[in-house]
Amino acid sequence: MALPSPDHAAEPPIDCALCPRLADYLAASRACEPSWHNAPVPSFGRADAEVLIVGLAPGLQGANRTGRPFTGDHAGVLLYQTLLDHGFAQGHYDARPDDGLALRRVMISNAVRCVPPENKPTPAEIANCRRFLSVRIASLPRLKAIVALGRIAHDSTLTARGHKKSAFPFRHGARHTLEPGLALFDSYHCSRYNTNTGVLTPDMFAAVFREVRDHIGQT
Ligand code: URA
Repeated sequence: MALPSPDHAAEPPIDCALCPRLADYLAASRACEPSWHNAPVPSFGRADAEVLIVGLAPGLQGANRTGRPFTGDHAGVLLYQTLLDHGFAQGHYDARPDDGLALRRVMISNAVRCVPPENKPTPAEIANCRRFLSVRIASLPRLKAIVALGRIAHDSTLTARGHKKSAFPFRHGARHTLEPGLALFDSYHCSRYNTNTGVLTPDMFAAVFREVRDHIGQT
């Protein structure tokens, strides 16, 4: 399969209109909360990342407000703490984009870059936004591992790379060799729902990142 060239944009334009429902939702949020980011949330992290973490989509009052993935979202508390614990981040996470937190060897992105109503993007919106995910993946020359947070991120990553979903079923804790030199690690999403119900515990999440660290090796 011909993969998109890294020359194409890996990030949607600020006024992206590919998904009318999401553009309307952003416009409504902008009208209520003009000081918020209210636009596609750009990926955060290193251009020389060896690990790409793919989430679902920005939360309304989290990443959509702050403009940084997972920042201000409940899910970000566990994600950023886990990254700090495993040497994938330095500094202090304070739920603000100016908290000085720096990622190490990692970039964080989302399968869908605009906040969807009720955190639920439609299949068409996921498909529309995949062009950016495809280019984002292709634009990381040192990439060795992708961590999919949840099934939607997993499925969209597979499609972005031209793989059939049936070839690599989603399973928490799984490591799939997608291509020589590129592994996909699956985790349940670190959402409030999953952590409150015990579907995902901090130990389960930590185990995924320990495996990722072992996979990419020490620097
Ligand atoms: N915030 C994000 O940026 N992505 C998610 O998947 C959840 C919260």
